[in-house]
Amino acid sequence: MRLMVTGGAGYVGSVVAAQLVEAGHDVTVLDDLSTGHADAVPDGARFVKGSITEAADVLAEGFDGVLHFAAKSLVGESVERPELYWSHNLGGTLALLDAMRRTGVGRIVFSSTAATYGEPESTPIPETAPTRPTNPYGASKLAVDTALTAYAGLYGLAAVSLRYFNVAGAYGRFRERHAVETHLIPNVLKVALGERESVSVFGEDYPTADGTCVRDYVHVADLARAHLLALDACAPAAHAVYNLGNGTGFSVREVIDVCREVTGHEIPAVFGPRRPGDPAVLVASSEKIRRELGWEPDHTTLHSIVRDAWTALQA
Ligand code: UDP
Repeated sequence: MRLMVTGGAGYVGSVVAAQLVEAGHDVTVLDDLSTGHADAVPDGARFVKGSITEAADVLAEGFDGVLHFAAKSLVGESVERPELYWSHNLGGTLALLDAMRRTGVGRIVFSSTAATYGEPESTPIPETAPTRPTNPYGASKLAVDTALTAYAGLYGLAAVSLRYFNVAGAYGRFRERHAVETHLIPNVLKVALGERESVSVFGEDYPTADGTCVRDYVHVADLARAHLLALDACAPAAHAVYNLGNGTGFSVREVIDVCREVTGHEIPAVFGPRRPGDPAVLVASSEKIRRELGWEPDHTTLHSIVRDAWTALQA
């Protein structure tokens, strides 16, 4: 298929673009490089530097589908500057959907998030759980999911949203490279690399077995593969939503212990107060995507996720 990958110079987008190229698709990456890196665009993909609001010019060349990753994704920033999230994530996507309609592109796979659910009533979280985002980032992604349902009904769009839990690991040279790093695993590995003295643990008084937060870590290669399955499964006039996680939770302490094992570094940890807005436990039910699309993660241990992240960091 001829495919556009918006945000294909970012972490998840670059891995999906690489897997699409490997699967024989004709891939164009559209990325404004506001947070992405030009050298993350995989060999074999064409790169167009630009914003999603300018997608129509490229889409007019004739495309079979769009995989949409370009977005702002920092929870803290979204609380401080919500307007950025509404204009980029919702406004930008509405412009992209309009460009798709005008150019006759009828298929989209959208990068959504577990942040659409907010504080869960129970875990593991199924797709039928109430959506009550606790920050503008999650709210803006949920608004796009809502628009996709409406556009599928109104215009026959074929859409799939994938709601990611905690994405980690690396795919070959493609790894997480954020200017402002907020995620746990890269922050812990920075200590092992000697770039930081210690890792801060945000809260040890949660109602969990060891008092630290529990998250569901999914390997970026497994996550990316789900996008290729979703692309094939897109059906006209339908919008399907799938959660993507391993279905197993690991605590912050467990993550740090595995990082110590993998790196052989002592990785000092400093325990501090909770980070506002962090739910105690977030674990996905990914039964639906396993059942309907046949998705199975290859990497179910934290060890293999951390090992791949560590190998890519050292390259
Ligand atoms: N966390 C931490 N120290 C850090 C970064 C994260 O203790 O330097 C904790 C955070 O409070 C949460 C978990 O690790 O409980 C995962 O956070 P991350 O930002 O990686 O992902 P999130 O679950 O917020 O999407």
